[in-house]
Amino acid sequence: MTTLEMPRINAARLWQSLMDLAQVGATPKGGVRRLALTDEDRQGRDRVVGWFREAGLEVRIDEVGNVFGRRAGTDAAARAVATGSHIDTQPSGGKFDGNFGVMAGLEVVRTLNDRGIRTRAPIEVAFWMNEEGSRFTPVMMGSGAFTGVFTPDFVRAQRDIDGLSVGDELARIGYRGQVPAGQVPGGMFGAYFEAHIEQGPILEAKGLPIGVVAGALGQQWYDVVVTGQDAHAGPTPMELRHDALLAAARMIDLVNRIAKDEAPHGRGTVGFAQVIPNSRNVIPGEVRFSVDFRHLAQDGLDRMDAAMHEGFAALARDGQCRVAIEQVCKFEPAQFHPDCVASVRHAAEQLGLPHMDVVSGAGHDAVYLSALAPTGMIFVPCKDGISHNEIEDAQPEHLAAGANVLLLAMLERAGRAD
Ligand SMILES: [Zn+2]
Repeated sequence: MTTLEMPRINAARLWQSLMDLAQVGATPKGGVRRLALTDEDRQGRDRVVGWFREAGLEVRIDEVGNVFGRRAGTDAAARAVATGSHIDTQPSGGKFDGNFGVMAGLEVVRTLNDRGIRTRAPIEVAFWMNEEGSRFTPVMMGSGAFTGVFTPDFVRAQRDIDGLSVGDELARIGYRGQVPAGQVPGGMFGAYFEAHIEQGPILEAKGLPIGVVAGALGQQWYDVVVTGQDAHAGPTPMELRHDALLAAARMIDLVNRIAKDEAPHGRGTVGFAQVIPNSRNVIPGEVRFSVDFRHLAQDGLDRMDAAMHEGFAALARDGQCRVAIEQVCKFEPAQFHPDCVASVRHAAEQLGLPHMDVVSGAGHDAVYLSALAPTGMIFVPCKDGISHNEIEDAQPEHLAAGANVLLLAMLERAGRAD
């Protein structure tokens, strides 16, 4: 392809689609509230499915409510090249998280249609059920069922705070499809791409429109209980205390140091803590807190785990307390496929777009997909790195750049037939 033959997406149409979709569940502060499988989600889904059909896509809905739109290829034996993301949002979410990836995929199809470009492999655009995990847990439910991490029965049995199940809500809004989860006509995707806002501050700080995502950080989550002894704050001398909060505070500091020792891809966060009895004149007898470790490599996570166990035991001993650590959740690190990562980088280069290699610190549907299909992701900057917030914002030209990279990367993997 020479530069002249290189198709470009329609930036104004992409922006308009995002703004139209953001009207469904729009909040007064300019955000979006479209929780999975609510009436608002149904309206959003209906709108996007309508656009899929207008673009000539053949729509397929699977048994857990994932939706796919297919544009036929010229080679009947070729596996589809797919893209997608999610259109459910957090309770006070923004216009771009997830929605950008789906609208960018739709814009790729519309552009191919405008130009009459045929591809050898079919092109698919998907949106995955309940990525956010806000109304129903766990997160990334639809892509998890598609890739066999969860069974469809497990997913459909999950209930929200009012006791309503995923299965019943899927049926109620008309999105409990017939296609078995994970079944793709012609076989599993030959490649999968996801375009997404970065949800972090790096690209904006460096003034770059494109992040070539090399992989996603693995995650290990723990519940920690530090047990000391409640005692009166006055009569108990300092050296005779079993102060669970003091020991926990030192452990929290250690979590931070463990992650810094694993720069640049280590992350360590204590985001939840509970002090018992939480009374100003009582030495705390028990503290419960969470630990969230992330790393790009499993051996990094293993080092962090070992350093925590050893360090917490020593700090508990020093503080005359006991500590119990339980691992409650784990996501394996994902290294995206070299061919897909190269296609994203190549697309950015062809378009003359400044770019850098990045890793994803957040979970995405693409992480589950990467276990079954060669996968790549494209990041674009978002304002101040903020997402999961009504003030989430992104520049139209950055979104257009990301969609153009998606278009060229998908074309490279799918192959032009003309
Ligand atoms: Zn997202």
